Amino acid sequence: MNNPQGKLYLISIGPGSQKTMTGRALEAIEEAQVVVGYKTYLQLIEELIADKQIMGSRMRQELERCTQACQLAMSGERVALISSGDVGIYGMAGPAYEVLLHAGWNPREGIEVEVIPGITALSACASLVGAPLTHDFCAISLSDLMTPWSVIEKRLEAAAQADFVTALYNPKSGKRVQHILEAQRIFLSHRSPETPVAVVNAAFRDKERTLLTNLAQMTTLEIGMQTTLLIGNSQSFIKEGVMVTPRGYTEKYGLDSIR
Ligand code: SAH
Repeated sequence: MNNPQGKLYLISIGPGSQKTMTGRALEAIEEAQVVVGYKTYLQLIEELIADKQIMGSRMRQELERCTQACQLAMSGERVALISSGDVGIYGMAGPAYEVLLHAGWNPREGIEVEVIPGITALSACASLVGAPLTHDFCAISLSDLMTPWSVIEKRLEAAAQADFVTALYNPKSGKRVQHILEAQRIFLSHRSPETPVAVVNAAFRDKERTLLTNLAQMTTLEIGMQTTLLIGNSQSFIKEGVMVTPRGYTEKYGLDSIR
């Protein structure tokens, strides 16, 4: 089952448009013979994979898709496993390594594995609203499909209390509508209701929408599966339609000294 000719590419395709993919990701797709991924992501790179063998799947079949990709690579194929954003951030890189290691793979004798990094949702979304992540930040996924809600709650509490700028991934789905309200409640117990928040939907995709609001108002906006929220820290501000978290330079040296 382990044909050393095979290779597994774990490819990050970025938030949406091809312009936000890396050169290496484009090359790696070119090199691959088989492309495996969630249908919506494969649609985003349709033109690049027209001549490949394609194995699409629906959500919730992640592990199946991953196992399939690993098996194909171990049988000698050059396989691209595609994730949106960065493959190593809430992506398929973790499960792929778990499957490989479970099957007895090691990097010395087994097939080659290459992880190709990309632009994750938080930096893509940040770029559309200004500079909200210029100081310490963290990412928390509100999806409790694989993580117990009690753990997520603990992390929200810690992030809110420690004044991290916080990116919320997977904020809401058809069934999970309460979690964002809970997250808001936790943040409001540590931060002002006026704290700036960016709500970015479908960054670099056709339905891109960017809104700036605050902690008290954020849940009144439309939030869905393709939305990321960036909650500012106690120093973040919105001015002229731009959200900024100060890096600290201007406090230290003063803006008036710059001519
Ligand atoms: N690996 C991906 C994250 C997958 S989790 C990455 O690195 O970006 C899926 C969540 O990511 C979505 O629920 C949403 O919160 C966020 N997301 C992914 N693509 C996005 C986009 N184009 N615009 C805004 N948020 C996005």
